[in-house]
Amino acid sequence: MENINWKELSFGYMKTDYNVRCYYRDGKWGELEVSSSEEIPIHMAATCLHYGQEGFEGLKAFRGKDGKVRVFRMDENAKRLASTAHGIMMAEFPIEKFREAVAKVIRLNQRFIPPYGTGASLYLRPLLIGTGAQVGVKPATEYLFVVFVTPVGPYFKGGFTTNPYVITRKYDRSAPLGTGIYKVGGNYAASMRAHSEACHGGEYACEFYLDAKEKHYIDEAGAANFFGIKNNTYITPKSTSILPSITNKSLMQLAEHLGMKTERRPIPIEELETFEEAGACGTAAVISPIQRIDDLDNNKSYVISKDGQPGPWCKKLYTALQQIQYGEAEDVFGWCDIIDL
Ligand SMILES: *Cc1c(COP(=O)(O)O)cnc(C)c1O
Repeated sequence: MENINWKELSFGYMKTDYNVRCYYRDGKWGELEVSSSEEIPIHMAATCLHYGQEGFEGLKAFRGKDGKVRVFRMDENAKRLASTAHGIMMAEFPIEKFREAVAKVIRLNQRFIPPYGTGASLYLRPLLIGTGAQVGVKPATEYLFVVFVTPVGPYFKGGFTTNPYVITRKYDRSAPLGTGIYKVGGNYAASMRAHSEACHGGEYACEFYLDAKEKHYIDEAGAANFFGIKNNTYITPKSTSILPSITNKSLMQLAEHLGMKTERRPIPIEELETFEEAGACGTAAVISPIQRIDDLDNNKSYVISKDGQPGPWCKKLYTALQQIQYGEAEDVFGWCDIIDL
């Protein structure tokens, strides 16, 4: 794909050659199928359309320094999709089939895998939807798994930088015993108005939600977990309403490997004042370092980065994780699967 400007690619959809699908019918999953259509014919009474029986994943494949193509922690995505399926009573897509589908869709679309050195990568979007017709509220008896790919550009086009964030109190993303721990579209629908109102059309990178019950602890951003760093310790919220981010889990392992302590515990808002560094983390950016978090309801601004630059730990963790993804550093944790093209 010599005519793609890899470095300028945004995080958007670009048509690629193929997607991989699998149907659940008569109580079992069928064979993987390859499709070149971007469309899904669907029954108008499908449960995904009416009752939100829908879950998804997001992961990336990278072309490495050695030319090999690596997918980052796909087993974790497969397990999380199974957990999401269990949580909203969908048929669980088997881990091994997930691995096969991921390898197949990458192989079929290899001309879209960005070259090493561009900072771009191939984003994979697996989707699991209830396709069976129901009008009464009950789980579908038929499901469709699809995985498509799209190349995405580097998140930080002008280099690794900090961003301002804002706390929203007006809306909750998820309830303490709700679906916040599952990667379902419903959580995103619930966050769109909050995002649009809180971020003032781009003044803030993203909104942070507080725990819905006490409105006193940091939960997470709309699509990224929170972590703070102080006293050589990586601290991330423990909550029943946040999505278990694979990036966050990996950063915690790396932090320990690099000699930090780690804690997972509730983080009260006032504690923001004490962090030396903080970040939002997820597959898209790995780490988006936080410049400050504004609490507009209380006329307060928690300034994390005094000089506006990412702190040393954010830089170190970000670099270490990316080096593993691009095959520049030894994969000491066995996180990457190399795809035979
Ligand atoms: C996907 C997602 C994340 C990030 O998870 P990663 O596995 O690190 O990409 C964080 N929060 C929410 C709400 C998400 O949906």
